[in-house]
Parts: sequence; structure tokens; C-alpha cells
Amino acid sequence: MSRKLVLASNNAKKTIEMQTLLAPLGLKIVPQAQLGVEEAEEPHFTFIENALAKARHAAAVTGLPAISDDSGLCVTALGGAPGVHSARFAGEPKSDERNNQFLLEQLSNVPESGRNAWYYCCLVLVRYADDPCPMIADGQWHGFILDAPRGEGGFGYDPLFWLPELGKSAAELDPAHKNVLSHRGTAMRRLLERLQEQPLFIQRRN
Ligand code: IMP
Repeated sequence: MSRKLVLASNNAKKTIEMQTLLAPLGLKIVPQAQLGVEEAEEPHFTFIENALAKARHAAAVTGLPAISDDSGLCVTALGGAPGVHSARFAGEPKSDERNNQFLLEQLSNVPESGRNAWYYCCLVLVRYADDPCPMIADGQWHGFILDAPRGEGGFGYDPLFWLPELGKSAAELDPAHKNVLSHRGTAMRRLLERLQEQPLFIQRRN
């Protein structure tokens, strides 16, 4: 029976991307909701602190190793917003559609040349809740914000995230191509490298 790693996210589409990216580990990747873990608070100003809070919370509740992703979109013309507030940019309840509409409104006076943005992803893996050496990796993906949505794939801001070198939005990429290019894909490849150096399952001393 394969060993389990808890995925500390309740975002269904992010979960699918992460399960695909984690496949090389050969572990059973269990979304936290399946183990009765509620969403953690994300009160911090930085992605890394929020990612750590989510992974610790899932490990504490389940007693299993846990991996989290805290990610978001940073828009230069908005001073890096929505950043850590990406999931709730347009307020509660969180909605990708309202977030995208709100982003378009915020950028309505910004010309094409000033609409650059980047996605950022921080991954944190803890072997247990008070793991003193969390494994951390991050990645970025640079593009521009369109003035109208394009494409049906991906999630979140992908229909507005334009990749000039491909002539496509992130929502027009097939999932495998997105995983090659994305902030999450880059962070995950870095994390998998780290995992070659450090064992994931270790015997704790009490
Ligand atoms: P989190 O689940 O609290 O980390 O929030 C992540 C939010 O950032 C999502 O709800 C999206 O709004 C945005 N986001 C992060 N990664 C992506 C992506 O790959 N595509 C589109 N939006 C993303």
C-alpha cells in the first residue's frame, strides 16, 4: 500500500494540477477535505507564511506529511495586488468570475503596454506539524492581463493571463502544457529536486 501525503488545499482545480505534478513521487495524494480537514486561516502578508500555515494545519489534524500551495497573481500596475488576496480580490464569497471582472475594472485605464503581471507559487512540505525543516520551493510565471477573457481551461485568472510568445491565454493551454510553464510547475520541479536530498518519511524520536 502506498504512503499518504495530504494535499492542503480545497481548490479542486489546483488540486488536480498538483496531483499530476506530484505523480512522480508514487505516493497516495489525499486532498485534505477527504480527511475532514477544514480550510486553514491565511492571515499573513506573504505567500510563504500562508503556505506554511496551511501545511502545518493539515499535518496537525491528520498526523500525516502535508504539502500546501499558496499562490496568486501580482499585477505591476496595481503595486503587486491582488497578491495574497487573489482568491478573494472581489470579496466574499470567493468567485473566479467576479475576481476577473473586478481585475478588468481596476485596469480599465491601463494601456496594453502597462498590463504586465506574474503568477507566484510557494509550495511548502512538512513531514509533521512541528517539522523544523519544512521543504520550500517557489516559482513565477510572467505574462500580461487581457482586456477580455479568452479560453475555457485552467482556473482563476487564467482566461485573462496572456502569453505573448504563445499567442494564447493560460486558459487556452492544455493542462500538460500549463504544468510545464506555470509558476506551480516550476515550484514543483524544484521541490521534487529537494526531495531527492531529504527523505520524506522519517522516524520521529519522542
Ligand atoms: P490560494 O488557494 O489561497 O493559494 O489562492 C490562490 C488564488 O490565486 C486562486 O484562487 C486564483 O485566484 C489565483 N491563482 C493561483 N494560481 C493560479 C493559476 O494557476 N491560475 C489562475 N489563478 C491562479
